[in-house]
Amino acid sequence: MRRKTAERRERLLEDSRTVGTMLRALVLLAFLVALAVPTGLLPIIPAVSGGDEVAAQSETPGPALIPLGGPTPTATVAPITPVPHVPIVGIIAGHSGSDSGAVCPDGLQEVQVNAEIARRVVEILKRRGWQVDLLEEFDERLEGYQADALLSIHADSCAYPGKTGFKLARAESSYIPGSEDRLVDCIIRHYQERTGLPFDANTITYDMTRYHAYYEIAPHTPAAIIEAGFMLDDRELLVERPEIVAEGIAEGLICFVEGE
Ligand SMILES: [Zn+2]
Repeated sequence: MRRKTAERRERLLEDSRTVGTMLRALVLLAFLVALAVPTGLLPIIPAVSGGDEVAAQSETPGPALIPLGGPTPTATVAPITPVPHVPIVGIIAGHSGSDSGAVCPDGLQEVQVNAEIARRVVEILKRRGWQVDLLEEFDERLEGYQADALLSIHADSCAYPGKTGFKLARAESSYIPGSEDRLVDCIIRHYQERTGLPFDANTITYDMTRYHAYYEIAPHTPAAIIEAGFMLDDRELLVERPEIVAEGIAEGLICFVEGE
């Protein structure tokens, strides 16, 4: 009996000594850590990153939980930036890639007149930030062509001495007569204002109202054709001042696409 008791006492003594050693080691460790942290030798690493917590919370609806001691959550509502619509228009340089069009006795070809005007219209509208396609008379891109507007540019022949003025027409069998009437109206008003040419409504032909491109493009693309003037009596304007002609056409298209 006595021997057993002595053994137990010895074991208890041994246990308390072990506990004492461990406690001393812990105190020493705490002391070292307390010294090391302010000197930067040991970084303080939070168990949960406060930033992630805030981000995760802002994604879930409901009341926002503010973590104690964490960074103050700020409203992270992404600004809504509207995607601007870039107008798309097609400009057909009449007869280009196909034939000369009307030819005057002195050799002036309609295709040359049209090309110069079309090139300038495209330039003006591109400067405005529009996407503009310069198309040939029978351009393969016309098949199913989708755009905010399509305009074909032509000029009248030298065969009518004394005739002056311009003409404008849309398809006689239009899918979108309201829209195309507005397109025609915009170009007539702005072209007349810019060039001073009279609008000639009486000599509009089937070439204009049954123009081939109307049957190729997508039915909801508003389209029209302009005869910008006569190559005899309006030659000075068409050939010497094509920038004025182009401005009048471009302003008419801007009126239609962007509104007034
Ligand atoms: Zn023509």
